[in-house]
Amino acid sequence: MASSQYLVTARKYRPQVFEDLVAQSHVVQTLINALKLGRLAHAYLFTGPRGVGKTTAARILAKAINCTEKSGGEVEPCLNCDSCKDFETQRSLNIFEIDAASNNRVEDIRELRENVRVPPQGGRRKVYIIDEVHMLTTAAFNALLKTLEEPPPHVLFIFATTEPHKVLPTILSRCQRFDFRRIPTKDIVDHLSKICKSEGVTADEDALHLIANKGDGALRDALSVFDQAVALCGSNLKYSTLAGALRVVDIELYFEATRYIAQREAGLMLSLTERIMSDGHDVREFFSGLAEHVRNLLIAVTLGTDALIDVSKRLRARYVEAAEEFTETVLLRILMVIDETQSRLPTSTSPRLAVELAMIKMVRMGDSVDLSDALAQIRRLERMVQHTPVQRPATATAMPPPTQNTPPPRHTPPSGTKPAPSPRNAGTTSDTQHISAPQSHAIGGESVLDRHRRKKTTPEQTHHSPVQPQQEKSQPDQIPQPGLQEAWSQVLTVLAKHNNVQGVQTMMDSRAINTSGNTLKVAVANDIVRGVARDANMLEAIKKSMQTISVLNGLEVDFVVRPELFPSMNPDWNAEIEKLKKQFPSLRLLTEALDLHLANNPTP
Ligand SMILES: [Zn+2]
Repeated sequence: MASSQYLVTARKYRPQVFEDLVAQSHVVQTLINALKLGRLAHAYLFTGPRGVGKTTAARILAKAINCTEKSGGEVEPCLNCDSCKDFETQRSLNIFEIDAASNNRVEDIRELRENVRVPPQGGRRKVYIIDEVHMLTTAAFNALLKTLEEPPPHVLFIFATTEPHKVLPTILSRCQRFDFRRIPTKDIVDHLSKICKSEGVTADEDALHLIANKGDGALRDALSVFDQAVALCGSNLKYSTLAGALRVVDIELYFEATRYIAQREAGLMLSLTERIMSDGHDVREFFSGLAEHVRNLLIAVTLGTDALIDVSKRLRARYVEAAEEFTETVLLRILMVIDETQSRLPTSTSPRLAVELAMIKMVRMGDSVDLSDALAQIRRLERMVQHTPVQRPATATAMPPPTQNTPPPRHTPPSGTKPAPSPRNAGTTSDTQHISAPQSHAIGGESVLDRHRRKKTTPEQTHHSPVQPQQEKSQPDQIPQPGLQEAWSQVLTVLAKHNNVQGVQTMMDSRAINTSGNTLKVAVANDIVRGVARDANMLEAIKKSMQTISVLNGLEVDFVVRPELFPSMNPDWNAEIEKLKKQFPSLRLLTEALDLHLANNPTP
């Protein structure tokens, strides 16, 4: 192909007639009907994401209106008459294309208004295509509005925009609006394979899906990826080489990851992470790809069909097969870990560690069930609350008991949740007596957690920081050695590979401060974390790991509580508990049952 004749694929294959427009049949059919009946509006607004055919449709419509060779019933432009040819060579005196991004001043619109008054030459109508119309200034919009209010009969406007909400409502109300939609991957793949045929390019189906996915619903983007792919790989597009060339994480790696999760292979999972990162892939890109992959598995598990999975036929079969290893619950929880990690990554001081821990967490996912997870978190909360030496306020017992007519809102199940049977709402006559008795008790409406929550809001807290008493008196910190935190992160990575993941996860919120003499000082958020770190087994493992890192080899380690370094570790308790209750409906029932039990058996 001579370079002077080279046209990018998106332009070369730009649809010239309605029939060739991809995946916008709802728009096309209405326009064709209007053309057939001669009932065209004076102004159209084409909205939708970029690259889906708005401007292309506007051009076809403009040509169809002005084509002089069409016979009675035809609607498609002939592409051969003077009008059609003039437009293609940009010499048309009746069809104008205006880019509102660069002609957005009121003067530009005034000029347009002058132009509008002159009747069309030769053709049937003057058509103004205004692209990115939302870019007009307010003054320009108002000037345009005057023309739209009383348009000359020979004029037709077609506005195109990706952001219809930025167009003045007075303009919107004078337009017939068409919403163009994102183009489904399958349609893009079909279109690409047609282009491959006429360009003499061979491509496997997975390669075409890869290109289509990169386009993300926009045909124009997919076509420029196609050009890039041909430039990089020549006329034979294979998925495996293409994925490497376009720097996309190979889907095989995602299948590998979920296989290791299913087989509980933490070691293999970590070496996979190593490979992905040493290949230079962005971890965020990897995680969003993994989320998509797990979502596909979830569809296969939940619906029992591959119909909604947007990949090649071959891969769909593989998803169905791979999904057999998982339950819906495990997949949902994997997605939660991915989601949590994705939001954590941007601020993480050690993204690598965050990724590795997430990978291990996913491998361990199948080992536990919802409730145990909830209980572990509750235990953690309760422990932290117990470690908080705050006096109970004197007013606590003076709280009026809630009456039966106004039950505390806590007992109302969240909307949309079907209330499960519990002692509280079993609702039989004999139960009613049981309910009324505890309610009249002083602590009737309060749960254990409620009481802890109330403690936390004690005014004393402002003068009496809960963790302060345990905080170590340390001499002023020396300037941290460069690379110390990095070395400490490596220790945790080594730990993660050999040790108790739960422990390391707690340790994740720790920070190497300095070395003083023969000792590495590590800051932690609170006593609990320090307790975990000082546990004999854990300490032994930490020391062993330190020996493998040259900077730290031979040092002792000491942990100091420095809550101010970990603001996120001092959460809002109310929010924390409410979040847990929402997440685990069984927990809400559990606390309610516990309340009832405590109310019936008050502690002296
Ligand atoms: Zn024509």
